[in-house]
Amino acid sequence: MTTHPDTRTVRIGAPDPGGRPVAVPIHQTSIFAFDGPADVADAMSGPTGAFSYSGYANPTVRALEDAMTGLEGGAAALATGSGSSAMSSVLLGALRRGDHVIAQRALYGGTYSVLRELSSNWGVEVTHIDAADPAELTAALRPTSRVLVLETIANPTGHVPDLPGLLGVARGAGLLGVVDNTFATPLLCRPIEHGADVVVHSATKYLGGHHDVVGGVAVFADDDRYRRTWEQAVRFGTVADPFGAWLVLRGVKTLALRVRRQCDTAGRLAALLAEHPAVTAVHHPGLPSHPSHARATALLDGYGGTAAFDLADREAAHAFLGGLRLVLNAGSLGGTETVAMHPATTSHRHLDERALAAAGIGPGTVRIACGIEHADDLWADVAQALG
Ligand SMILES: *Cc1c(COP(=O)(O)O)cnc(C)c1O
Repeated sequence: MTTHPDTRTVRIGAPDPGGRPVAVPIHQTSIFAFDGPADVADAMSGPTGAFSYSGYANPTVRALEDAMTGLEGGAAALATGSGSSAMSSVLLGALRRGDHVIAQRALYGGTYSVLRELSSNWGVEVTHIDAADPAELTAALRPTSRVLVLETIANPTGHVPDLPGLLGVARGAGLLGVVDNTFATPLLCRPIEHGADVVVHSATKYLGGHHDVVGGVAVFADDDRYRRTWEQAVRFGTVADPFGAWLVLRGVKTLALRVRRQCDTAGRLAALLAEHPAVTAVHHPGLPSHPSHARATALLDGYGGTAAFDLADREAAHAFLGGLRLVLNAGSLGGTETVAMHPATTSHRHLDERALAAAGIGPGTVRIACGIEHADDLWADVAQALG
């Protein structure tokens, strides 16, 4: 058909590459076209057929979902626009008014806040447990209990829950076991192997790994739960953008190299901090003195890339952070640059005194999340800021 230039400027085709691209292409398109209406209808009927609309599914996003399904050992995955939307999609897909959620007390602040919102305004009941002992979970069970929420490595204290024990109790009681594996990454722990039904990641952290993208992923042990959550994610519009998914995929390629180095550096800093006279406590599960050390050694292939420590008080913590030159004063974690923050006045600011204490956060607690700079340079900076 002959067309006007106006039309030809719009209708630009793509060449068939012939060979297979090694890097996943960015399918930056919102829609996919077909030969006829039956194909469109078919494509729009579910998450697994042909791609029709990127608000439902997209090939670049699917590449990330497939990579994470493989890394976590699940049946399917759903990539979302952020870690928080991964968690809220899972919760909104699993809960009805009147249902009861049990969650560990030392939770990521955003997850804590979603649960508080669900309990204040959405008719969902929430109980927090210390998660040190499966008997605590048994005691908290109600006939309406539906979901258990855990984190592999708690922020910022580095506590590691008894995943197999707790998930075993959850399974026995018919609860959906949801584990936020952001801090561990699938390289240190694969919660589905320990009985989790859903694994949630903030891809903003280690998976993306370069402080340049916000994203999330939920990996499901079974397909049915994936489909139900996918429906809820489409309904609430929490899907991932192709370019964001591509950045996360690009990060995942170097995940093993980065995480090993970040774990080594965090372990070194933790050991050095423990010797420093200004430091009153160090919270890192790699230290034999840490209450979760034995469990972390049994459960994890590394102790994580963060270390928290206590200084005398809030003033000392702020003076330390203000004195840093190389380490950045910033939130988040898991990227190439080392960052430090004061949880009590940032990530955990909405917790009251009692909740802070229960989460193991004191007024002088500082968290360092290691990047991939040379450990000697990082220690030199930390030491000068302590002095
Ligand atoms: C950052 C984080 C989240 C939330 O992820 P976003 O991508 O910031 O929405 C959830 N869980 C943990 C453990 C996190 O560190």
